Amino acid sequence: MLDAMFSAQVGDDVFGEDPSIHKLEAYSADLFGKEAALFCPSGTMTNQIAIKIHTEALDDMICDHNSHVYRYETGGYGFNSGISVSLIQGSHGKITASQIEEVIHEDYDWLPKSKLVVLENSCNKGGGSYYTLDEIRPIYQLCQERKLILHLDGARLFNVLVETNESTQDVGALFDSISICLSKGLGAPVGSLLIGSARDIKRARRFRKVLGGGMRQAGYLAAAGLYALRNNIDRLKIDNDRAKEIAGIISDLPWVKSISPVKTNILIFQLHEGRKASEFVNKLKALGINSSPFGPDKVRFVFHLDISNDMITDLIKTLKTLRF
Ligand SMILES: *Cc1c(COP(=O)(O)O)cnc(C)c1O
Repeated sequence: MLDAMFSAQVGDDVFGEDPSIHKLEAYSADLFGKEAALFCPSGTMTNQIAIKIHTEALDDMICDHNSHVYRYETGGYGFNSGISVSLIQGSHGKITASQIEEVIHEDYDWLPKSKLVVLENSCNKGGGSYYTLDEIRPIYQLCQERKLILHLDGARLFNVLVETNESTQDVGALFDSISICLSKGLGAPVGSLLIGSARDIKRARRFRKVLGGGMRQAGYLAAAGLYALRNNIDRLKIDNDRAKEIAGIISDLPWVKSISPVKTNILIFQLHEGRKASEFVNKLKALGINSSPFGPDKVRFVFHLDISNDMITDLIKTLKTLRF
């Protein structure tokens, strides 16, 4: 990846003149069978721009109550787009067509206008759970019938596709826009892509600029992203398998009360009564293992390409002997 970065050709992307960014945008648009793509500094920005291009003030967005666009983007849907949100209590982050149907508003002056549905795949807060395309199709159908726009927050989409063997082309056919992250499991240093129609992406470019996301010789970063898309997707299966392996190992350890079903590269477990996640995470950190508190008594492990076999061996040994 570093070699690809060092040998990248660059130009000024604010003027649309960076060949490496053009290459990355064209590659990712093609991957999903879409017309265009936009390279942005973060997944928060690609999601926020998606919301911006698909809505106007007084519109309403429908999503799961634990979704990233609602919880972890600083309330940007209100700040950037002036819209409201209808939250659904999904199951492990997943919502259904009938749940969406229940919260679609009638066309009254006093109700914000239902405009946009956002799905997250995989679902971060859902413990890495995922939708199959067969589960998404009824949602797509409903959106077609009720004239709703469908956006995918696919920050970790490729962790799903290596499990289901579904194609990016088939994903692309069901969504109006897709956000993918290069800097999570794919291991690039920076960047996300917003993928969609040529018209939408043209408008998205303006909003990227006003958010301060117009970058100049960023082709070095795009080259890393392109390398990641070409080389680091298949190996995500290793991360998913490791999450399952570690879940199996901790399941009968004394400090573990329960484990969320492990579907991809995220492992979330609950500690027994009286044990605090923040203390647990600090204790592991002192032993050289990074994890995140995910609520007062829940801990999240995320598996990624910078973890070696030796580290996994060490992790297993540490967890098995841990007193907590
Ligand atoms: C990480 C992530 C994002 C984007 O986050 P950035 O840190 O802004 O790149 C969006 N959605 C989900 C589900 C994520 O996990």
